[in-house]
Amino acid sequence: MTGFDDNQKIRRSGLKRRDLFAGSLAFGTLGARGMWNSVPAAAAALQRTAVGGTVPRLVPMRAHADQITDIKVCLRPFRPAGPRLDVERVGDKVVIHNYGHGGSGWSLSWGSADIAVGKAASLSPRRIAVVGCGVIGLTSALSAQRAGFDVTIYTRDMLPHTRSVRANGSWTPDSRIALTAPAGPQFAEVWEQMARYSWKTYRDYLGLPGNPIDFRDNYTLSDTPFEEGPEPEGRTGPGDYASTGMPRATSEFATYGDRIRDIIPAPELLASQDNPFPVAYAQRAPMMMFNFGAYGHLLLSEFYQAGGKVVIREFHTPADMKSIAEPVIINCPGYAARDLWGDRTLIPVRGQTTWLPPQPDVTYGVEYKGAAALSKSDGLMIQAVDLNNVGEMEGVGNSFEHADRAESEKAIAVFENLFARFPAGRG
Ligand SMILES: Cc1cc2nc3c(=O)[nH]c(=O)nc-3n(C[C@H](O)[C@H](O)[C@H](O)COP(=O)(O)OP(=O)(O)OC[C@H]3O[C@@H](n4cnc5c(N)ncnc54)[C@H](O)[C@@H]3O)c2cc1C
Repeated sequence: MTGFDDNQKIRRSGLKRRDLFAGSLAFGTLGARGMWNSVPAAAAALQRTAVGGTVPRLVPMRAHADQITDIKVCLRPFRPAGPRLDVERVGDKVVIHNYGHGGSGWSLSWGSADIAVGKAASLSPRRIAVVGCGVIGLTSALSAQRAGFDVTIYTRDMLPHTRSVRANGSWTPDSRIALTAPAGPQFAEVWEQMARYSWKTYRDYLGLPGNPIDFRDNYTLSDTPFEEGPEPEGRTGPGDYASTGMPRATSEFATYGDRIRDIIPAPELLASQDNPFPVAYAQRAPMMMFNFGAYGHLLLSEFYQAGGKVVIREFHTPADMKSIAEPVIINCPGYAARDLWGDRTLIPVRGQTTWLPPQPDVTYGVEYKGAAALSKSDGLMIQAVDLNNVGEMEGVGNSFEHADRAESEKAIAVFENLFARFPAGRG
C-alpha cells in the first residue's frame, strides 16, 4: 500500500519495528507481539509531534506487587497458516471450522464469524449449532442469529470460564496470527476482510453504558530515540518453521497492519515539554480495547434475547458431533482443537496477564521496557510482553498454563519504578 516494503521502509528510516508499533495497531504488545507487528503504518506518523498542551494531567498508576488480585494464564491458539476456516463432513453433519486465531481472536472475531456464517448460510439450514462459547463461538452465534438462523451453542464452558477472558483485550489484529510463508498471500486478503469487518462492528459498541468497548490513549516510552538502534532479531534457535516445524525468529511472523493504515489512528511523538514521564521519549496513540465483563455480559444477553439456547456438553472426538441435533455446525473450540480434532498444526503460545484493583481515575495505557500496563474497567492489567527480548517468539511452543508470579512481579516493577519518579522533573 505504500509503494515500498515494510522492512525497507523501516531500514531507511532507522525506526525500530517494536517502538513504532506500540500505539499504531494497538497494544499489540499486550496481545503479545503486536508490538512487533504492523509497524510501518506508524513510521510516517511519527514525523508528527502532538499539539502542545493536549496531554491531560495523568493520574499515576498504583502498580505494586502487594496489590495483585489475580494472575491469568492463557494459550494463544496459533496456526502458522492462519485460522482454520475450511468445511468438512462428519457423518451427515457439515462442520465449518473457525479456530486458531493466535493473539488476535478478540480483534478478528466478528470478521471471522462473518466468513463462517456465510459458509453456513450457503447451505440454507434453518438451525445452526455452534461448538464453543469463547469470543469466537459467541460472535459466530450472534452473527448467525443476525443472519436469521435459530442458534444453539454447545460448549463445555461459558465465556467467563474460557481462555478468551484470560487475554489482555486490546485491538491486536495481527498479533501471532500467522507465519508469512505458510499463510501465503491469499491469507493477507482474508485477514484484511476480517480486520475491516471487525473494526466496523466494534464501532457499534462504542459509547454504550458500561463501556464494553472503549478507547484509551496508549503511551509508548523509550530511553533512546525511536529512530535509533538495530531491531532485535528475536531468534530463539537455529532454523525456521519449514526446517524444524516450529517458528524460530520474529521475522517469520506475518505483519499485515499496513493494509488497514487508513482506518487505524497513528501514533504521534510528544515534545519534551509535554512529556510527563521520567523517560526521554514518548509517543501516544488512541487504542481500542475490550472491557471483558461489560462486553461479555452484553454479548450473552443479546444472544439470549434473540432466542439463543445453550447446551453444556463436552465432546471427545469429532464423531461426537453426530450427537448434535442441528445439521450445520460452526466449530469454535480454540486451542482445544489440537486434541479434539487432532490438529497438530496448532502451536501453543503462552501468555500471562496480572490484575490489580480497578483504578478508574487512570484512563490510559503505558508500554515501557518490555512490559505493558492498561487501565480497564475490571482492573489495572499488567503484562510482561517482551522482558526476554525475543519479540514474537515469547511463549511460542510453551503450553505451561500455570501462573508464574515472578514474571508478574518483574513486569509490575517496571511501572512501580516508573511511577515512583512521576511526573518528570519531580525531585
Ligand atoms: C495473554 C494473552 C493475551 C491476549 N490478548 C489479546 C488481545 O489483546 N487481543 C486479541 O484480539 N486477542 C488476544 N489474545 C488472543 C485471544 O485471547 C484468542 O485468540 C481467543 O481468545 C481465542 O478464542 P476462542 O473462542 O477461539 O477460544 P477459547 O476462548 O479457548 O474458547 C473455546 C471454547 O470451546 C469450548 N470447548 C473447548 N473444547 C471443548 C470440548 N472438547 N467440548 C466442548 N466444548 C469445548 C470451551 O469451553 C470454550 O467455550 C490473547 C491471548 C493471550 C493468551
